[in-house]
Amino acid sequence: MEKTLAIIKPDAMQAGNAFAILELITNHGFKIVRLAEKQLTAYQAEEFYAEHKGRPFLPELVTFMTSGPVVVVVLEKDNAILGWRDLMGATDPAQAHEGTVRKLFGTSKGNNATHGSDSQASAAREIAFFFDRA
Ligand code: ATP
Ligand code: MG
Repeated sequence: MEKTLAIIKPDAMQAGNAFAILELITNHGFKIVRLAEKQLTAYQAEEFYAEHKGRPFLPELVTFMTSGPVVVVVLEKDNAILGWRDLMGATDPAQAHEGTVRKLFGTSKGNNATHGSDSQASAAREIAFFFDRA
């Protein structure tokens, strides 16, 4: 069984969509093995998105990710990493397919409701970033 990290971002929390997103996740056969609410600091958000250091959108992304609480979740399923990326849909909700989380709950490329690890290396790093063990 593979594990991946999901984050319910501040826009989805603020809009009251956390439970609906978790329900969609479990309805698609993912097991929630860890779950925590966090208020990220700017330092944590920059470290978490270290791959985007120097990109023009990083300051906006950090401001957004620290604008309110998030829920961080470890999901488990066969092929969880790709499966969760598929269920989330494209980064830009306008490009996301019907039925995906970002189509249903995202409002813009920045405010796109959820995060998902994009590789096995990212999943391992991101799970360890938030949890001692998963
Ligand atoms: P995430 O890492 O949050 O799951 P992703 O892997 O689909 O999203 P990335 O390329 O890793 O997309 O970008 C991280 C986040 O930065 C995106 O979710 C989005 O909110 C924001 N972002 C990326 N590119 C842009 C952009 N050109 N303009 C504004 N925001 C952007
Ligand atoms: Mg990414």
